[in-house]
Amino acid sequence: MLKRSPFLLLLVTAAGLFAAPFVLPFLGFTPTTINRILVWGIFGIGFDILFGFTGLLSFGQSAFFGTGGMVAAYLLTVTDFPSVIAALGIGTLVAGIVGFLVGMIALRRTGIYFAMITVAIAEVFFFVEFNPLSAYTGGENGLPGVPAPTLYLGFTTIHFDSDTRLYGFLAFWFFIAMAIALRIVRSPVGAVLRAIRDNPLRAAAVGHNIHGYKLTAFVVAAAYAGFAGGLLGLMQGFMPPDAFTFDTSGQLVMQTAIGGAGTLFGPLLGATLWLYLSDFLQTTLHLGATWKLVLGVIFVLLVCFLRRGLIGGIEDLYALLTGTRRKAVAITPVAAPSSPIAAERKPVTAEHARKAVITAMAPRPPANEPKNEVVLEAMALTKRYGGVIANSGIDFSVKRGERRGIIGPNGAGKTTFFRMLTGEVKPTSGSIIFEGRDITGMAVTDVSQLGLTKSYQINQLFNRLTVRENLTIAALAYLRGKFRLDLFGNPYQVEGLDEQVEKTLELINLTTRVDTPVSQLAYGEKRRLEVGLTVATNPSLLLLDEPLAGMSPAERIETVALLKSIGHGRTMIIIDHDMDLLFELVESVTVLQEGSVLANGTPDEVKRNAKVQEAYLGGVHEGLAAE
Ligand code: ATP
Repeated sequence: MLKRSPFLLLLVTAAGLFAAPFVLPFLGFTPTTINRILVWGIFGIGFDILFGFTGLLSFGQSAFFGTGGMVAAYLLTVTDFPSVIAALGIGTLVAGIVGFLVGMIALRRTGIYFAMITVAIAEVFFFVEFNPLSAYTGGENGLPGVPAPTLYLGFTTIHFDSDTRLYGFLAFWFFIAMAIALRIVRSPVGAVLRAIRDNPLRAAAVGHNIHGYKLTAFVVAAAYAGFAGGLLGLMQGFMPPDAFTFDTSGQLVMQTAIGGAGTLFGPLLGATLWLYLSDFLQTTLHLGATWKLVLGVIFVLLVCFLRRGLIGGIEDLYALLTGTRRKAVAITPVAAPSSPIAAERKPVTAEHARKAVITAMAPRPPANEPKNEVVLEAMALTKRYGGVIANSGIDFSVKRGERRGIIGPNGAGKTTFFRMLTGEVKPTSGSIIFEGRDITGMAVTDVSQLGLTKSYQINQLFNRLTVRENLTIAALAYLRGKFRLDLFGNPYQVEGLDEQVEKTLELINLTTRVDTPVSQLAYGEKRRLEVGLTVATNPSLLLLDEPLAGMSPAERIETVALLKSIGHGRTMIIIDHDMDLLFELVESVTVLQEGSVLANGTPDEVKRNAKVQEAYLGGVHEGLAAE
């Protein structure tokens, strides 16, 4: 749904907001319920940016909802603060600042531990509101007497003092909240957030500061929560203490899951259903205390059968009725160039490889002009995992423009060596110099930003995104640096992005698959995209970990041709077990065995090396023995 134009979406939103107070009462919604839906909808937009777009499940949003609401209510009830809007703004700001501080702590961990920290922090806020700060928050009584908002127009003043008038006020802010959120999720930051949701490891490896972006999403969600909390106080004329309860956070998660996460509109739909059913079960069916049981069963069924929420269900129904196939739900940024969605696979040909050579991107210039031709030097590099010595005292150097192969039996320590070079694991001892700079122990993001990156032995792609979106994520890291808060920018207006993505597509021969989601690619195409993600960051030193793994013999030959084009003018180190093809690709070879360097030399020298032959099946490896 979010693939549609943002202007169309905002037009539909405006029309929906205009029609709702006329239509919903016929379906049994009271004016108060309609207003509550909007407050929860705004609360949910922020949460969806955090959960649906960034993949961070927080159970602590009540802390920010309560904080924003209490600050605004306190200003308006205790201090005679003159402006309702300014009070809302201050509540939002305080919630955002609190979100920043909480995020700094909670985001130190991931997954279930992150979720648990958010629960614990929300409980702390609940306690603080009820006890030490009860003189300011009213404790269990909350803060009564929050005034209705007013709008001074010069010639008249509008008082939003009835449910109907308040609806106009809330609808206006919902519209603004949605417009801002649509800009954020379509911005370069939004693109990186989706990448983090899909594969945080790879998002960091291509050069994005994922902690910074996660913190951004956390603060945005906290600010939305604080703003919604302020609106709750205005709507009720009273800021309730239960805004801080776990129930509030849980209800938000449920509403978002039911409505459809990653859609921005899902939480609004979820809130509509939730609040309608809770009214209906209690006041119409008079179920008494059992209403929660019935509501629980209904929601379990909904979550089980509508796995993408109500929005997903509506999309599926629409597809069924119109006979169209469901497309990926990933968001295409504004004005993304269109391409055929499911074009035929295009085989890699020698002609393509030649063309790729011509269009090959010049690798980035070195950060520090090296004094000699050595680009990378590892000295006495060692990595121990407890008692296991994965790498031991490796001395290794590569010259600019060189294509080096690394071979060795399984478990020889090849991948560990790459992981140390790129900063994925810290060496136990030894040092790494890249383009004259000591990068030993540097984080993977910083190493990638310097121009040293690797492709993975097992594909590490952004699986819910398309081919173009995958390459865009990598190219953005190169063009924007590791962190930039262009929350309202357009990725396709980032200078040089189109060119970078197009050239990479050409190099990896996926120009006809640009809008295909990764999940629909053939294995060989995924392997090429895996290499493409590294190429799009325009590295000056490219490491490829078994780029031919799992490919058919024909695909291997074609991919070697592609790698030759990619390596044009670029320094590359390639690990692979297919020695016949690897030796065709590289000029020099390093052999690892049991974590140490066994031999160095040209492919011919290595083939003839007795120690190397011995290491491979006691000297009878077919690739070597054939010579
Ligand atoms: P392959 O060709 O099978 O990919 P490799 O040459 O890349 O193997 P590595 O994956 O680097 O070898 O592993 C080298 C040694 O280090 C192996 O004994 C492996 O079990 C061990 N090892 C690698 N990573 C870890 C880890 N995270 N914890 C413990 N041991 C590890």
